[in-house]
Amino acid sequence: MISTDLSTEHQQSDTGTASQYCYVQVVLDKPLVQGFDYIWDVNELGCTPTAGQLVEVPFGRTNTVGIVIKVSNHSDYEHSKLKKVSQQAPLPPLDSKTLGMLNFASQYYFSTLGEIALPSIPAYWKKPKKWQTLAEKAIGNELKPPKKTSKKKAAIEQKPHMPEPPSGVQKDQLNAEQTKALNRLMGDANTDLGYRAILLQGKTGSGKTAVYLNWIKEVLQSDDAQALILVPEINLTPQLEKRVAEFFPEKSIAVMHSGLSEKRRGIAWQETILGKAQIILGTRLAALAAIPNLKAIVVDEEHDASYKQQEGTRYSARDLCVWRAHQLSIPIVLASATPSLETWLAAEDGRYERLRLDTRAMSTTMPKVKLVRLPKTAAPSRQGEADLISTEVRDAIARNLLQKKQSLVLINRRGYAPILSCSACGWLSGCSKCSSYMVIHKSRILGKKAVLNCHHCGLIKEVPPFCPECGNAELSTIGQGTQKMEDYIQAQWPDAKVLRIDADSSKKSAHAEGLFEQIHDGTADIIVGTQMIAKGHDYQNIGLVTVIDADSRLFSQDYRAAERLFAQLVQVAGRAGRASQDQEDAGEICIETRYPDLPVFRHVLGHDVDGFLGHIAAERKDALLPPYSYQALIHAEAKNISTAIQFLTDIKKIVRNEPDFPGGVRIYDPVPKTIVRVSSMERAQLVIESDSRKNLQQALTQVDQVMRGLSQGRISHGSRVRWLIERDPLLI
Ligand code: ADP
Ligand code: ZN
Ligand code: ZN
Repeated sequence: MISTDLSTEHQQSDTGTASQYCYVQVVLDKPLVQGFDYIWDVNELGCTPTAGQLVEVPFGRTNTVGIVIKVSNHSDYEHSKLKKVSQQAPLPPLDSKTLGMLNFASQYYFSTLGEIALPSIPAYWKKPKKWQTLAEKAIGNELKPPKKTSKKKAAIEQKPHMPEPPSGVQKDQLNAEQTKALNRLMGDANTDLGYRAILLQGKTGSGKTAVYLNWIKEVLQSDDAQALILVPEINLTPQLEKRVAEFFPEKSIAVMHSGLSEKRRGIAWQETILGKAQIILGTRLAALAAIPNLKAIVVDEEHDASYKQQEGTRYSARDLCVWRAHQLSIPIVLASATPSLETWLAAEDGRYERLRLDTRAMSTTMPKVKLVRLPKTAAPSRQGEADLISTEVRDAIARNLLQKKQSLVLINRRGYAPILSCSACGWLSGCSKCSSYMVIHKSRILGKKAVLNCHHCGLIKEVPPFCPECGNAELSTIGQGTQKMEDYIQAQWPDAKVLRIDADSSKKSAHAEGLFEQIHDGTADIIVGTQMIAKGHDYQNIGLVTVIDADSRLFSQDYRAAERLFAQLVQVAGRAGRASQDQEDAGEICIETRYPDLPVFRHVLGHDVDGFLGHIAAERKDALLPPYSYQALIHAEAKNISTAIQFLTDIKKIVRNEPDFPGGVRIYDPVPKTIVRVSSMERAQLVIESDSRKNLQQALTQVDQVMRGLSQGRISHGSRVRWLIERDPLLI
């Protein structure tokens, strides 16, 4: 096994046998340094090293897992100071293209390669103690004749019975519009596919999924090809997985999302890196997987904010997929009814191709949108139980129930009510560790007793029996969440089956599936939920969608609030009337607002996606906001806000005085974050902006260097400020 072309050095070991070794550079999940040198002992490891190999190495007093990124017969360090690689994982190395993508991501997002590469490997493969057993298992398997079914069983998460022949909308069943889109996607069969980015912009229910599944079928003609389908939510995977499995009965599907057991995820990832899984269906994290024969990518609901990682390296899975498609010279389809402004503009100015689907596949109508005007005087959080919903919404639900159709009630908050208060002294249920309020929840854990729960730090407390400030026993709630709405709706319609779907009720993926099943099979009459119910699902019998107090999503400092609300309204409206055939029966959406004249509502009325995006594009252009400029955030947190602000102020001063600091880069003053304190740490941020992506990148490189010079890893010397650079933030 020892190859001779790798010039290894020879050493006489104690036992007298010649040992051969070389050096490898290994990246670890550490913020400090790009790579660490280790000795690779060829005799001990039984083979020569390859870049991309997952290995176990000693680090400090323990052992850890890393990835080999360089092989060399030389090290700058003294041989005697270096430690040896302990073992290698029984897996093929990450291919060079995947390593290239991770490397790009580490540079673009200012993390070390290890900080982005190691978290992309499932925990199952980061337990080197188990590698030996896994390796033996793998050898055992190789000896057996490859059984297709067993392989599938491993890769496929809860795959239902497999019908033959394939079901779903086949190529010859596509309507004219879909066929045209498919033909355009396939392009000229005689030419190599090459890199193409295509926006598939189709109304909700227009059959986008049917189009891209048929496209993937064409691309996967060649046996060893692999395709990646990204979806935003874990909750969307079971439904789509079933659809994909039925559509491709002969293909292996690997499902990757954070809701799976460690083992399932580990095996799906293994099947993918081995090239055995042909369709990889997953959430954000699947974008970083090693897929050696990747030939096509689909990012469904490409506008969705969940593609942006919000902790650790803050990468955008969608953007990385576009980069990856470019690197691999393969096509990528970005599908959405409400594209992100970035993608929409790329299609407008021809950087992306665009395919449109303008009619619904199963229905001849779009739902009727109705704006329900709330009185401006009503407090944003309506206090009395009597008016949790407006009369119009109440009447609409009653009518819909009579017609035996399901209703969706969308409300933005989970929990029972956002604040507990004392009317005598004004006490509010603030969190002791965060500058935010603790939300009242009816907790399953404490036997339906109410608890206070902080959505920022996770702190849970019992509800105090009386006011902690003045002793008043009459505490009341302010505002409402999904739980209060569920109780209220149930009390209004005692005979109806009311179902609540939010992050609390659907924590476990299996549980969530059961909840969604109750919508699909018609058990539930009224479904109360957060935006989780708004996305992607292909429900057949929703007659009415109501959006409670839509304004609550609008008034924040976030300049993307209107864009996000618009997408959410169009998406949730798209759940209604998906199978209706006449205008009478078209499905209805009632949106409560105090400001029906705002552009976001006016454009929703006419289902006018292009009109709305054109409107906000003009607004952003005027204000020079993204995508007309590029932004980055420097996050800083410390025990005291003043320390964090001081750190950022110093950084700003230092980089501004550097002679080669690029022009056209604006550094704003550091400010405290909207929620300053979370988990007893106080947080500040600084915005850096430029009209030139290149200049911004150069400026950030300098900022990064300055901060690294003042820090150990990501924590500054002395003041102990923890910092992080975020590219293309969604929220500032
Ligand atoms: P989208 O992804 O645009 O929301 P889907 O692909 O989920 O739309 O299609 C919506 C519904 O229409 C699905 O139930 C799908 O099976 C059905 N459908 C799609 N295309 C066709 C077609 N050509 N003929 C019949 N039904 C179709
Ligand atoms: Zn009080
Ligand atoms: Zn808290």
